[in-house]
Amino acid sequence: MKSRFTGFEPVRRDRLVQETRHDAYKAKHKLPEPTVCPQCGAVFHAGRWQWLARPTQAHEEMCPACHRMHDQYPAGFVTVGGAYFKDHREELLHLMRNEEARAKAEHPLKRIMAIADEADGVLVTTTDIHLARGIGEALHHAHQGELEYHYNEQENLLRVVWQR
Ligand SMILES: [Zn+2]
Repeated sequence: MKSRFTGFEPVRRDRLVQETRHDAYKAKHKLPEPTVCPQCGAVFHAGRWQWLARPTQAHEEMCPACHRMHDQYPAGFVTVGGAYFKDHREELLHLMRNEEARAKAEHPLKRIMAIADEADGVLVTTTDIHLARGIGEALHHAHQGELEYHYNEQENLLRVVWQR
């Protein structure tokens, strides 16, 4: 099976590593603790970004998700399309937004960047590869369809394709 995305290899859904590796996007050094993101207010504490009350004294630095949004450089790409999608567009968009809200409530770095119209459906971009996978799984769980993953290991980017 050859990938249709340059630089990406198809991966079986059960093979994609449930990795805990931190998003090192734009991280030039180890962050002091606590660090606050001036953009979204997330706090880097105990080795990860969390939603916490802003500490009185804190280093300030943009979190990887805000950096990616600023640079318009997504980590995850979810292509959603097909006749069924066209007929259930609002419902499926709502499902994807819900999946983001659920993930983001717990993990500040999991966000949808944009939902762009494409010829056959939409392209949803995310700040995190696990959210891209979560959206694909949520669609597949609720509406079946065809789900594929394509992974770029070098850049740690994930493309998810859901079609029905
Ligand atoms: Zn931020």
